[in-house]
Amino acid sequence: MLLSEKERERKEAILKVGSQVIGACREFLAGEGFVELLPVIVAPLTDPLRHHTDRAVIEAYGGRWHLTRSMIFHKQFAVSVCERIFSFSPNIRIEPPDWGETGRHLWEFVQLDLEVRDASREEVMDLGERLLVYVLERVKDSCSEELSFLERELGIPERPFPRITYTEARRSYGEDFEEALSREVEGPIWLIDFPIDVREFYDREDPERPGILLDMDLIYPEGYGEALSGGEREHLPERIRERIRVQGLDPEQYRGLLALAERGLPPSAGFGIGIERLVRYICGLEHVAEARLFPRVPGELSPI
Ligand code: ASP
Ligand code: MG
Repeated sequence: MLLSEKERERKEAILKVGSQVIGACREFLAGEGFVELLPVIVAPLTDPLRHHTDRAVIEAYGGRWHLTRSMIFHKQFAVSVCERIFSFSPNIRIEPPDWGETGRHLWEFVQLDLEVRDASREEVMDLGERLLVYVLERVKDSCSEELSFLERELGIPERPFPRITYTEARRSYGEDFEEALSREVEGPIWLIDFPIDVREFYDREDPERPGILLDMDLIYPEGYGEALSGGEREHLPERIRERIRVQGLDPEQYRGLLALAERGLPPSAGFGIGIERLVRYICGLEHVAEARLFPRVPGELSPI
């Protein structure tokens, strides 16, 4: 027997919830006029990410291709074609092996990555709240048996969600503020206004408040931590070039992005919400690995 009946039942309940989550996201976004794009798996450039990840590069046809860390730059281009886009985007992030113990990290995961042309941070925060509430309500309704099997009582958060700035969060909760905040709050909370040096160069600097970004994370309650990241984007070539320079990155690596920006990337805002983390939160799982049938846990090997 591959799994005991108890293990199989638990896995099946979680996978059913996961499947409903994906369906509910699609349903909500279709109603909001979004176009679904197929994901990008390999590209000449990908999200630089501020934290360390090992390189995941393949060679083909005389070129070097990165496995996608996030579709950020493709999203910025895509909204020049369709106003509102999303993709269920597989991401590969080879993070440190001990991150396997956080309960929140998989080195292969899927994020629902969306972007809206000419949108403000406020607009995508509003969209994110409505998306989350819609998915929670739908899943609570369609998966009541699975949730009771998993002994999960799921509350539906009130909107608008509260907000805290990065600076306030650090002042109140110290270094490990994300974890502390997530344990303390009653429902999801927005973490906004990250300082420029802690985030990637594509998050837009507030022209009114130099050094502060027009970006956000959403934090789940009950210690489940980060749900999503997003914000408004730098789209002007001179701004992108300057941000790349300040972060000490090689502009040559972002040649393709800069060429698109010169030709006119539209202003946009968006976010990426981790699907396995959302399923973990909905099901009340100990580790995000439980949300996948074939989890890729940092530091661990897998038979299949
Ligand atoms: N690039 C972000 C991430 O993958 C998501 C976003 O900003 O849309 O973390
Ligand atoms: Mg993030």
